[in-house]
Amino acid sequence: MSGLFLAHHLAEAGIEYQIFEKRAGVGGTWYDNTYPGLHVDVITRSYEFPFARKNYWSKRYAPGSEIRRYLTDFAREQGVVRHIRFNTEVRQAEWEDDAWTLTLPDGSTEVFDVVVAATGFLHVPKRPTFPGTDTFEGHSWHSSEWDHGVDLTGKRIGVVGTGSSGIQIVSELGKQNHDVKHFIRTPQWIQIRQNKKISPLERVLLRVPALAGYWDRRVAALRVATEGSETWRLIPGDERTVQTQRFYDELAEAVPDPVLRDKLTPKDPPGCKRIPKSPDYYQVVQRPNVTPVFGGVQRVEPNGIVDPDGTLHELDVIVYATGFDTHAYMRPMEVVGPGGLTVEEMWADGVYSYRGMGLPGMPNFFLLNGPFAPVNSVAIPTCLRDEVGFLMRLLDTMQREGRALAPSAESTAAFCDTVRSALPGTTYSLCDNWYTDKGGVAIIWPFTRQQHADQYADADIADFERFPARRELAAPVRA
Ligand code: NAP
Repeated sequence: MSGLFLAHHLAEAGIEYQIFEKRAGVGGTWYDNTYPGLHVDVITRSYEFPFARKNYWSKRYAPGSEIRRYLTDFAREQGVVRHIRFNTEVRQAEWEDDAWTLTLPDGSTEVFDVVVAATGFLHVPKRPTFPGTDTFEGHSWHSSEWDHGVDLTGKRIGVVGTGSSGIQIVSELGKQNHDVKHFIRTPQWIQIRQNKKISPLERVLLRVPALAGYWDRRVAALRVATEGSETWRLIPGDERTVQTQRFYDELAEAVPDPVLRDKLTPKDPPGCKRIPKSPDYYQVVQRPNVTPVFGGVQRVEPNGIVDPDGTLHELDVIVYATGFDTHAYMRPMEVVGPGGLTVEEMWADGVYSYRGMGLPGMPNFFLLNGPFAPVNSVAIPTCLRDEVGFLMRLLDTMQREGRALAPSAESTAAFCDTVRSALPGTTYSLCDNWYTDKGGVAIIWPFTRQQHADQYADADIADFERFPARRELAAPVRA
């Protein structure tokens, strides 16, 4: 998504660009993930690019197939696809002679003035290595690598993991009457939210900008009414208490059996992990064809999973919905800056960045949705609007000055200090989650959406050090 979003702005600015894509099609994580039940979990209208509105969504939270179609249509209709080299995973980016040399899988190299790692953070699957994993004689796969060649009819299916992926998969397979065991190491708070169909009338109304604006405002108000304001997770206070109680109340109403309810009740407070939304997960785990298994996985055997009590659950299929290496960002690509400095060395003690986008000592190398971006609380296109707006400003400065730019170490440290000092007040710092780094710090934006936009408006170009650039950047930039 971020590569396509940026491409639109580069094209508008007349900047020559090339996109390298490791997969055979566009969509990133929406290309990889095709599991049953996949839906976007923010209101789809806020997931559209503001400059590419569509009105073909079937549901308020659209199925993954529609998001993938949207991104594919966008790339084709806007001509971005002509700039994409598919099946081409960049191996290395090295700053040589004041420009970036990219090394491609066939060993060939290409030189660019600017490199943007629009790689996302959900592209390296985390596959657990339980004792005996390799001995399993059935089919198994990670949730982002669904094997649609396997017919699930009559199969006994185990799903490991209770993040958004695991919850959506179990909800869907359970409803389809499959025999499902859900292996729950840590129960999750789940927001019970209905996924309404978008009616043909609504679709027509969404074509009229003024009415679409009215619809959007109504949906935003509805979202606050049902999910709370964006600040309850950021700042302790009464609203957090009210929202927390709401999760307990909804669980109590959905799961009358006190024993099961107790097992499904997380020990950590709501909002410390990313909250999955599901209209029916709690109903589904109470169906006779679905069994929650608590405590995680002790080991895998040729014919199933052994739980911590030593009980063997015989299975034909295991789905590992165990998440991603969310701090990989552009890696395994190797980034080597001036003087041989590598990203691997910079991030040895944990990932960080300047405003989610820049790395000190790495001239003209930028990330989109990098460390400390608000990827949990702000819809991705809104994050991108702020980040890409700032990046375009930086490109303009490069062109005017004919120099390469990297944030200074001081400005990066000041940004990281500001963010880290706000994190302890947020719910994100109350447990381990996929934002947490090795040192236990949540790598996430702890402020509001508006503060995210404002930080770029206020950002000072003086925060950036100048480096020699190979050629006069007043000539078209090659990004
Ligand atoms: P995740 O939120 O990181 O969840 C991973 C799950 O696997 C957790 O329940 C974790 O348990 C469990 N797990 C990991 N290793 C395990 C092990 N060794 N043994 C037992 N359990 C293990 O991953 P995800 O569900 O793929 O979601 C990642 C993010 O992707 C989401 O938060 C969201 O941002 C995005 N996503 C979005 C959508 C959407 O928009 N529709 C859908 C899916 C995903 P612990 O909690 O105990 O570690």
